[in-house]
Amino acid sequence: MNFFNSLSRSKEPVAPLEAGHVRMYTCGPTVYNFAHIGNFRAYTFEDILRRAIQFNGCKVTQVMNLTDVDDKTIRGANAAGVSLQTFTAPFVQAFFDDLKTLNIQPAEVYPAATDHIPEMIALVQRLFEKNLAYQSDDGSVYFSVSRLPQYGRLAHLDREHLRVGARVADDEYEKEGYGDFALWKAYESSDGAVVWDSPWGRGRPGWHLECSAMAMKYLGDTFDIHTGGIDNLFPHHENEIAQTEGATGKPFVNLWMHCAHLRVNGEKMSKSLGNFFTLRDLIAKGYTGREIRYVLINGHYRQPLNFTFDALSAARSSLARIDECVDALTELAASQKGVDASNACLAEFTTAVNDDLNIPEAFAALFALVRESNVALSQGAVKPQDAAAILGVFDKMDTVLGLVRFGRMQKEEGVPVEIQTLVEARAVARATKQWAESDRLRDLLASKGWEVRDGKEGQKVKSLK
Ligand code: AMP
Ligand code: ZN
Repeated sequence: MNFFNSLSRSKEPVAPLEAGHVRMYTCGPTVYNFAHIGNFRAYTFEDILRRAIQFNGCKVTQVMNLTDVDDKTIRGANAAGVSLQTFTAPFVQAFFDDLKTLNIQPAEVYPAATDHIPEMIALVQRLFEKNLAYQSDDGSVYFSVSRLPQYGRLAHLDREHLRVGARVADDEYEKEGYGDFALWKAYESSDGAVVWDSPWGRGRPGWHLECSAMAMKYLGDTFDIHTGGIDNLFPHHENEIAQTEGATGKPFVNLWMHCAHLRVNGEKMSKSLGNFFTLRDLIAKGYTGREIRYVLINGHYRQPLNFTFDALSAARSSLARIDECVDALTELAASQKGVDASNACLAEFTTAVNDDLNIPEAFAALFALVRESNVALSQGAVKPQDAAAILGVFDKMDTVLGLVRFGRMQKEEGVPVEIQTLVEARAVARATKQWAESDRLRDLLASKGWEVRDGKEGQKVKSLK
């Protein structure tokens, strides 16, 4: 496996600190709203990364934090007139439901920032001891970037323009305005009831501090991979490096990986621009989690991806092509034991995945297998044991893609596409516990003359006519 390291700006082989075990940290959601599909581009990229590492026989320990205290969550809770916890809890649950809808494998640990305030305070204390932190007149504590020689390495900042002592209190800011950043923010009346005691007075942690403290707690002073969307690279990840390396004197992370943005009409999809769709918006329009996953993973992660509804329609037909082929092979392979077939397509697939997650090439290998299988099937040239072996290759590929087998129902004889689509939308509604939506789809199916039953192996539909 060779992955592009944002730190060295080159592809590097993955060499985990512990052989056969990759430890990785991924910046998780700020739980002040439903995540949009731009956020899910980052989470599906990280899911593919995790699956690709497992595909190569390595164990993965992934930590994904939940940012449940920052400028945005505090603003939201105070606007709603409820406690921070009451405000964030439903968005945390929604996030976990959405991960299931997209077949994203769960991380091993989901630490919430508000459960780790003592660790954050301890980290700031260490930075004081190293003379890297200072308290300003307003009571907030800042990191002094001019005192850490490696500050700016990840983002390639020009240190000559560093304005010594200039400070930024906000969690997010531009490269041009960089300066000392807040580790601990002194209490302000706009914080409402969100406040903790610290040796420097009442206040709350800065966003960057949260990730450093939680990453170190669960993964150690140094670990293998840290990921996020490209917008996290500066200032968030630069500041994480500063805090952790400043405190420990050791390298923080060996490999930094960032995905490019999901865009709409050439602009980053974001809450602030208002050009976003949540996963729920698209499910309500009748698209399945499987189709959305297809669109989100079908591009190189370091290239911007433009979101369009045409891409969702194209995903529907591409998935139908895979399904038809897999169904024909399954029929043929029924009750036969497969043989181990080394397959040129699998080799191409593996090479593509291991070359910095080249998923477009990996899909090309998968569709080559679809094409070749279809030709052989139409000529009656596939023996049952060959069919089983080919299906084995699809399954192996699917450990990385999470698409082929996910969210599918057994195709019933003579079930029209329209009915299949409704049944699959209902599967998503059920997986995300949207019971009212699930009932609505059941009624809609009934009105079209189809009965749906829920069994152990998923849903079965029967014509009522
Ligand atoms: P946030 O909840 O804003 O902290 O973002 C969560 C994750 O989504 C971070 O890794 C961001 O970098 C990522 N992200 C936000 N917007 C986009 C986008 N349009 N495309 C890809 N990733 C994004
Ligand atoms: Zn983070």
